[in-house]
Order: sequence, then structure tokens, then C-alpha cells
Amino acid sequence: MSCVFCKIIDGTIPSTAVYRDDECYAFTDIHPQAPVHVLIAPRQHIVSLAETDADDKELLGHLIWAATEIARTKGLSRGYRVVLNTGPDGGQTVDHLHVHLLGDRPLGWPPG
Ligand code: 5GP
Ligand code: ZN
Repeated sequence: MSCVFCKIIDGTIPSTAVYRDDECYAFTDIHPQAPVHVLIAPRQHIVSLAETDADDKELLGHLIWAATEIARTKGLSRGYRVVLNTGPDGGQTVDHLHVHLLGDRPLGWPPG
């Protein structure tokens, strides 16, 4: 398996852990776009949101819940952004489903 996030999840590639449970692993982004920039990835290799189906509804909810818990832990009381870049036009560069949690600065809208 050549997937960089699978290697991060199995520990082959080092990362800074933020949260972990049986379903997901969360770690700091190597090129942070905000003071808090955490990636939450399922332990299961799923390419993107576009590859999910009804069987993944619970897992998808879990990933968003994990992002919310991490935001609380980080004290992001002024708000934050949760993003799932999907496919080439969505700006996805790593083909393993992941949720971005960005916060601790005002974030502009619309995105580029
Ligand atoms: P995407 O562009 O697919 O939505 O997000 C991929 C993210 O993964 C990018 O923000 C990028 O900085 C991050 N990333 C890519 N490779 C690594 C890595 O080896 N370690 C960590 N911690 N983050 C990575
Ligand atoms: Zn993977």
C-alpha cells in the first residue's frame, strides 16, 4: 500500500497525534494553513467522499464528531472550519479520505 495516510496511520511515517480511536486517527497537518490545522482520517482506506455509500454514514458522522471534539479540546470557541476536499476540482491532493479542522484565526470566504 503506497498511501501516505495509511503509512501515517500504521506508524511507518511519523506524525504528531492529536486524537485516536478505533475508527480514526487525527494528526497535525505538515503544512498548516492556520494555527490549528488537524487532519482526521479513517483507519480504513477510503479514497474520498465520492467513494462512500450508505454503509459509511456512521463513519462519516464519527469523523465530523471527532473534528468537533478536537475543536473543543483546542478551545476554538470563536469558531472553526471543517473541510473535506474531494477530487481534483475539490483540491484533494491525498487520496485517502480526511477531514481538515482549521481554526484559531479568522478564515476568509469564499475559498480560492
Ligand atoms: P488535501 O489537499 O488532500 O485536502 O489535504 C492533504 C493534506 O495533507 C495537505 O494539507 C498536506 O499538507 C497534508 N499532508 C500531505 N502529506 C503529509 C504528511 O506526510 N504528513 C502530514 N502530517 N500531513 C501531510
Ligand atoms: Zn490510505
